Amino acid sequence: MSEPAEVSLESKSPFEMRVHLGDDVPEQTVRQALSTGEMGFLHSFTTGSTVDGPGVRVVAWTTGCMWRCRYCHNPDTWKLTNGIPVSVKRAAEELGKYRHGLKVMSGGFTLSGGEPLMQHRFAAKLLAAAKSMGIHTTIETNGYYGDQLSDAELENIDLVMLGLKTWDSARHKALTGMDIGPTLEFARRLAARRQPIWIRFVLVPGLTDDLDDLARTAEFAAGLGNVQRVEVLPFHQLGRYKWERLGLDYTLRDVEPPTAEAAEKACEVLRKAGLTAY
Ligand code: SF4
Repeated sequence: MSEPAEVSLESKSPFEMRVHLGDDVPEQTVRQALSTGEMGFLHSFTTGSTVDGPGVRVVAWTTGCMWRCRYCHNPDTWKLTNGIPVSVKRAAEELGKYRHGLKVMSGGFTLSGGEPLMQHRFAAKLLAAAKSMGIHTTIETNGYYGDQLSDAELENIDLVMLGLKTWDSARHKALTGMDIGPTLEFARRLAARRQPIWIRFVLVPGLTDDLDDLARTAEFAAGLGNVQRVEVLPFHQLGRYKWERLGLDYTLRDVEPPTAEAAEKACEVLRKAGLTAY
């Protein structure tokens, strides 16, 4: 099938709104793409990120996410076919352009989203291609579909950046629409394999700032033994316009970003459990 040549795969930022780019792809082709991974759907490629893994990163942002986090910054990535249909070959070629620069800068490739494991066959193939080019690989995931990757496929991932939202299962369901169990199971599996994890925790006033709840998450994370750091990410409103333009019910319109003091308090709770947090 053809790819829409007029849309650039590269964007300045994942906060660029992109919709309907794969709407013309027949349903049968979408199903085939999901089952073979020969084709995937991408919001974009961005370059020069210093916050999506070690060093400077080239990031491929996938579309498709089955969660509905109330504070999601990129709800345009929820729908798979909002993304550009891209063959795994083309995506690997795009990445190949940066291979030498990434090595010089001790950087690498990060597969993010959306939720990259919604397209786990494509993700596995693209990460394998990156690894075969000698590029450091990271995946940013909510971990829900971690069980869809085989042990051999996990070998192609140098670092997992795992999003943890809240410990309480009812609160997790209310916040994301999904159960926390598979995410925790994936974390345990990575721990058993001694595969490094960076945890990402979005601090949202009124939603995820219960410090007792965070202490439970911290206890779990510290007990894994493979968590190298926890990043406390202050909630922000950069994604608000996307919710509004997509006609979605954005419930956090009036929520202010957390204060520096609140972020520090969250870090202290994590550090108290023995974790490196900032
Ligand atoms: S898991 Fe990530 S992409 Fe999916 S809804 Fe939550 S914040 Fe958005």
